[in-house]
Amino acid sequence: MSFEKKLSLLDLSMEEFGFLEKAGYPKFRKKQVYLASRQYKSYENMTNIPKDIREFLKKDYVDIPTKIIETFVGKDGTEKYLFLLTDGNIVEGVFMPHSYGNTLCISTQVGCRMGCKFCASTLNGLVRNLTAGEMLGEVLSVNAKHGGTLDKRAITNIVLMGSGEPRNISLSTCGLVEGIKKLADSGITVTLTISLHASEDEKRSKLMPVNNKWNIEEVLKASEYYFEKTGRRIIFEYSLIEGENCSKTEAVKLANLLKRLNCHVNLINLNFVKERGLKGTDKDTIKDFMDVLTKKGISNTLRRSMGNDIKGACGQLRNTYINEGGNKK
Ligand code: SAH
Repeated sequence: MSFEKKLSLLDLSMEEFGFLEKAGYPKFRKKQVYLASRQYKSYENMTNIPKDIREFLKKDYVDIPTKIIETFVGKDGTEKYLFLLTDGNIVEGVFMPHSYGNTLCISTQVGCRMGCKFCASTLNGLVRNLTAGEMLGEVLSVNAKHGGTLDKRAITNIVLMGSGEPRNISLSTCGLVEGIKKLADSGITVTLTISLHASEDEKRSKLMPVNNKWNIEEVLKASEYYFEKTGRRIIFEYSLIEGENCSKTEAVKLANLLKRLNCHVNLINLNFVKERGLKGTDKDTIKDFMDVLTKKGISNTLRRSMGNDIKGACGQLRNTYINEGGNKK
C-alpha cells in the first residue's frame, strides 16, 4: 500500500468551501458539501453531489481521513480503536460508555515527545501533530459506528487524551505553561486537566521530564491564571504509582500544595506498562490517600480504570501494534 499525507474535507470550515463558487459551481454547494463531509460520507455515498464536483474535490482532499482498522471491546464496555491515517500512521482512541452518555478519548498527536516515565504513548517519541480534520475524523467515525448522526450524537463527551469528567470537552496537558496561558486567553471554553502525579519538583521531574522546563509552582500559577480568566476549576490528574507517590505523607503534601486553588483531583491507579516497570497500588492505599485529601478539603474522585484488558491506557495499543509490525495480538 502506498501512503500520502493529504488534507481531508474535515479540515475545511463551511466558509472555506467557498472555493467551489470561485471554481464556478453554484453557491449552495458549499453548505451541501460541508454537511455531507460532517455526516462522514465517503465520496461514493455523496449521491446528492454531482460527480464532477466530487472529482474536483478528490484532487486535493480525501473524504475519510481516519479509518477504523481495529476495534477491541473490553468486558466493561470500553472500546479501543486503532485508526489509520492517510500517511500510514496509526493513532488510537478509547470509547467509554457512562450513565450520562458516551465519552470518546481521542489522540491529538501520533506518539508524544514528553517522555513521562510511566506512559506508553511516548516510548517511540513524537511523529507529528494530527490535523483538526483527523481529530474530527476520530470522533465522527466512532459516532457513526455507534449509529450516531450529526443531530443524534452517540458521542456526547470528548476528552483530548484526558479524564472522564462529565463535561463536554476536556483537554489534558502534562503542564505546558505557555499553552495553558494561550488557552486561557483564547476564549475557547474547555475544562483544563493537568497531569500532576507528584507534589515535589524532584519527584515530578523524575516522572515527567517536562517539569524541568516548567516546575510545579509555574504550573500552579498558570492554573490560577486559567481559573481567573475562564472561571473553570482545574482538574489535576494524579496516577497512583506504587512506591513513588501514594503514601499518606504524599497525600498530605498534595493537599497542602493544592489548598490555595479551586480544583478537583482525579486519581487513577496506574495501568501497568510492561516496558516501564512501574505499577499501581492496592485498594487500602488508595482509600487512605483519598481520605486524607477529603479531610483536608480537597475534592477528589477515583477514576475507574477502564479497559485494562484491552490496553486502555495511553499509547498502549498503538505501541503493541508498532512493535509487532502491525500484528496486534
Ligand atoms: N498528554 C496529556 C494526556 C495524557 S493521557 C497529559 O500529559 O496530561 C491522560 C492521563 O493518563 C494523564 O494524566 C497521563 O499522565 C495518564 N497516564 C499515562 N499513562 C498512564 C498509565 N499507564 N496509567 C495511568 N495513567 C496514565
